[in-house]
Amino acid sequence: MGELRVETLSKTFKDGTQALKGVSLHVEDREAVFLLGPSGAGKTTTLRIIAGLEEVTQGAVWIRGRNVTTWSPRDRNVAMVYDKHSLFPHMAVFENLAYPLRARRLAKNDIRSRIDAVADTLQISELLDRRPSELSGGQMQRVAIGRALVRDADVFLLDEPISHLDAQLRARMRVEFKRLQREFEATMLYVSHDQLEAMTMADRIILINEGRIEQVAAPQTLFDEPETLFAATFVGEPHMNTFPAQLHQEAGNARLLIAGGDVPIDDDWLGRGPDLSAVQDLIAGIRPQQVTLARPDERGAGIIRGVVFAVETLGSRVVFDVEISGGSKQNVVRVLTSVDQARAFPQELNAPIAVRIDPDFVY
Ligand code: ADP
Ligand code: MG
Repeated sequence: MGELRVETLSKTFKDGTQALKGVSLHVEDREAVFLLGPSGAGKTTTLRIIAGLEEVTQGAVWIRGRNVTTWSPRDRNVAMVYDKHSLFPHMAVFENLAYPLRARRLAKNDIRSRIDAVADTLQISELLDRRPSELSGGQMQRVAIGRALVRDADVFLLDEPISHLDAQLRARMRVEFKRLQREFEATMLYVSHDQLEAMTMADRIILINEGRIEQVAAPQTLFDEPETLFAATFVGEPHMNTFPAQLHQEAGNARLLIAGGDVPIDDDWLGRGPDLSAVQDLIAGIRPQQVTLARPDERGAGIIRGVVFAVETLGSRVVFDVEISGGSKQNVVRVLTSVDQARAFPQELNAPIAVRIDPDFVY
């Protein structure tokens, strides 16, 4: 096992695409870190550079304290898991698992015992004689993971290993993976575009966007204290509402103008974040879980009036999209509420309704 460190990686492809713009990250020994970001963010490029499959334009890769930037992939002792399609179709599961071990010239008995141990953990012992085409999607994926785990790699790199599976299987694999990582005490860099996967499985999340690291934090911290607009809107489901806003401060009376609504704030609120007094245009963020519905005739602080734009029932929850006409352009506020609470409000399209914004929940 080993620690991984990447220093100010830049990568410009031949066609001029700047995939990475100074990415630094580290994974402690036996830590499971997620590299989370949208498609095209540079996740796969980062993994390929760490594995030695892609040259760096600038920067360095360190594994177990050694600078491996110019080493060949073989010498790095890194195992990479792609999706299930990387299995050899003409080989039985056992041979698929044995392949990386044979390549390292391990003794026959050693190969057998390692494969048995990994197969046991992954619950694929009964499948060792089958071909990949005789396996379900989930079984194939477990074999692909097993092929990486049989090796005593210093670092495991996983590139969206379960994103092609159906939702139910994905949910099961999430749990299984976490158990596996603990069991193998693996140092793992796991790439995903799925925030739910990252939130539920990661020790730490490295959020990447457009070739740059946006934030590094524990899952809950990333949710509670996003440091950039991207972090705020990418993490959380449904996504955070954002609005243009202005801060108005007159003697002893401060308020936020958000999408036509007037939200009074106090010194406490102002003291919490950075100094906003000199900033003309702000962006206010509010999570759908933290806005409440109100009746259209309600008066008072933080009320914004609008009409019902869409209602989506999620079983135990209901999502209201409320169209408000404040500010310079039309805006939709997304409100996530319970079924019980939703009953008290009109759900027909264009029915008048309002939302209440609590300044304590404004980012
Ligand atoms: P992700 O895995 O986060 O979806 P990638 O690392 O695959 O992102 O790609 C990052 C950016 O680099 C994208 O804009 C992609 O189109 C570009 N890219 C990836 N590989 C190549 C390549 N071989 N040549 C040119 N551009 C590439
Ligand atoms: Mg990718």
